[in-house]
Amino acid sequence: DEAEAEAIKWKYHDPARLEETPWKLSLLSQLDQAIKDGEVEIALQPKMATKDKRVIGAEALARWTHPEKGPISPVEFIAAAEANDRIAPLTYHVMELAGRAAAQLRQVEPDFNVAVNLSARMLNDHRLVGEVLSMLDRHDLPPTALTLELTETAALSGSGADLELLSQLKRIGIKISIDDYGTGLSTLEYLKKVPAEELKIDQGFIRSMNENRSDLIMVQSTIALAHSLDRKVVAEGVEDSQVLEQLTMMECDLVQGFVVGRPMGLKELVRRLSRDKKRRAA
Ligand code: C2E
Ligand code: MG
Ligand code: MG
Ligand code: MG
Repeated sequence: DEAEAEAIKWKYHDPARLEETPWKLSLLSQLDQAIKDGEVEIALQPKMATKDKRVIGAEALARWTHPEKGPISPVEFIAAAEANDRIAPLTYHVMELAGRAAAQLRQVEPDFNVAVNLSARMLNDHRLVGEVLSMLDRHDLPPTALTLELTETAALSGSGADLELLSQLKRIGIKISIDDYGTGLSTLEYLKKVPAEELKIDQGFIRSMNENRSDLIMVQSTIALAHSLDRKVVAEGVEDSQVLEQLTMMECDLVQGFVVGRPMGLKELVRRLSRDKKRRAA
């Protein structure tokens, strides 16, 4: 049926392809054209508040459907795009689609927020602030409708220029989030410096917090630390209801993962929000 077809369209792809470097390079040379041809779309994955179980936002995840190769995972083309200076066109394309989606979603949920992944490399792009502002303007969105999830923390120099740009975005009213927290170079120093109001605990910790006591303690203390610094916490990769319950008790602010919803198309998310809204009104 339709839902199943859509689920297949947005699902995971073959990680074995990651090994094939030549294929990746030829792929990369096709990326700009693919964007122009509309082959790169976004899937939207819900973010749910634990306190009232409301879906209050979604993350936009890039999806490339190649006419011959089929779906290609962002894990495959984003690292390559970052390494070869092709990340800006992709980012602005995803941002535009996210803005378009946000405008539609906010007709159902007025405060709905859409998150876009921002490679740390993008902090060197002098067009960033202008592109963000013109996107918001095009879709008549307030800055609070957008979150930028800072990925690839290893590449964030923590230099004055990077931090100044992030502060500028924050002053405009855009929410900054630190993605995959706990991996790479996301040190305490980094947490202290980066003007982010949100921190996403990496799914590696979340997935094993049921079986691994030290992961559970890590999650717990990260939530406490974040709250004491006045940051909100998101847990990503929540796959079962027991973990969801635990995170709710631990006062983790937001959760994201298969138990809440898989990445989906805009239509499906609009349906979901409308259904939730009707249920609340009943
Ligand atoms: P991320 O931002 O940490 O996104 C979370 C990834 O985990 C997504 O994979 C999502 O589909 C997957 N996921 C979500 N919930 C669950 C769960 O419960 N269990 C499991 N096993 N997985 C879950 P995806 O879509 O393949 O994206 C991978 C990464 O690619 C993202 O990680 C992000 O870093 C990057 N990415 C995606 N789109 C963009 C983009 O437009 N720009 C940039 N710079 N990076 C992007
Ligand atoms: Mg993300
Ligand atoms: Mg993440
Ligand atoms: Mg991740």
